[in-house]
Amino acid sequence: MSASDRVQLPAFWWRMVWALPLKLPVNFRRLLVGALLSSGLAPQAAQAAQAAQAAQANQVAQATQLEVSGHAGFTHPTQVAPATQPKTRHPAPPGCATAAPVDWQLVAPGVWVWLPEQLAEISPANLGRVLPISAVVDGAQALVIDPGPSRAVGWRVRRSLACQLGAQVRWVVNTHAHAESVLGNSAFADLQAHGFLKIAASAATRAAMQRRCPQCLQSLIDHVGASAMKGSRIVLPSRTLHEGEMLQIGRIRLQVMLAENAHTESDLLLWAPQQRVLWAGGLIYEGRVPELAQGSLSGWLNALPRLAALRPAVIVGAALSVSNDGLSEPTALKATTAYLQALRQRVLQAMDDGLDGSDLKSLELPDYADWVGYRQRHGFNVQRAWRELEPEWMEAARPASPASASVPDIGR
Ligand SMILES: [Zn+2]
Repeated sequence: MSASDRVQLPAFWWRMVWALPLKLPVNFRRLLVGALLSSGLAPQAAQAAQAAQAAQANQVAQATQLEVSGHAGFTHPTQVAPATQPKTRHPAPPGCATAAPVDWQLVAPGVWVWLPEQLAEISPANLGRVLPISAVVDGAQALVIDPGPSRAVGWRVRRSLACQLGAQVRWVVNTHAHAESVLGNSAFADLQAHGFLKIAASAATRAAMQRRCPQCLQSLIDHVGASAMKGSRIVLPSRTLHEGEMLQIGRIRLQVMLAENAHTESDLLLWAPQQRVLWAGGLIYEGRVPELAQGSLSGWLNALPRLAALRPAVIVGAALSVSNDGLSEPTALKATTAYLQALRQRVLQAMDDGLDGSDLKSLELPDYADWVGYRQRHGFNVQRAWRELEPEWMEAARPASPASASVPDIGR
């Protein structure tokens, strides 16, 4: 085996595991697990695939409506007996027989992502679930990242983690203060109140939730309907996270990083260095137009190189983006950077041309016209960018005499 083969083979197995949705046949999954274990090339990937296999078996077994016990006593997926041996299977938690399943996808060892049905704006049809929801699961414990737009969605996440993956939620992390990410906290309020888990966020995000969420809750109700938002309320984090802190779920360690004034006033990143998975909250988009309303164009552009420097293999943000070969950069990073740079360039060019900021027709970005939310959001982004860039443009223009100030050079 050449040196380059030794580098490439683990990446191959990673790709195999990432591609494992729960619905793959059990026998296929068993074969893959066996191959991974015997190869010795990717023991973590093998464990994760084994967990997925057990989770699927558990999902099948729940249909038999076996006896139930209290909230405690959930099993780790690797300890769950296959459906063919129900007598040795650990009892399922209450309500699993009727719990709506979640189509979790295993994107790295211990890392599960529930994607929206399709790229779309918030609507009654999708109940506001337009962003990926993540869970890090190990040792029968789970950490949920951005639990969704409502109590109903958060509750579905909570139940599915118990019923499908045999895990109790110990942490809920809010990456930033946007309604479709944080109102799912409602489903975990009782557990936080009784000390079973902590909801965590940066101090600035907590403050922004307190300030903005009454309006954003009402806005979501207006967009998806009151019944979809039933029981949803603002549940503030009880734990403040700081730059450089480490969170631990089972054997998985997550590093906390903060970006100030980027997508919002405070955007929290979580980095799992062993899995090379980066949670980037609202900092990463692909196929949808980024939302700049509460952010800073310059701050956002300044934050993105820090994400790239980590060399993530998987990024979970407003989109899920996976490196093609485990080595190259996930495409969403480039896509987000390209849109924001194009927006900046277009606005500055319009200022150079003496245009009015309200003339949105002249500030179109046709390359992004097919991205979801372009009609709804691009115009707002232009206005936000204009307000932010105008002082910078004027500052650059100041030293020049009026006669020669037509094209200030601001180094772009
Ligand atoms: Zn957001």
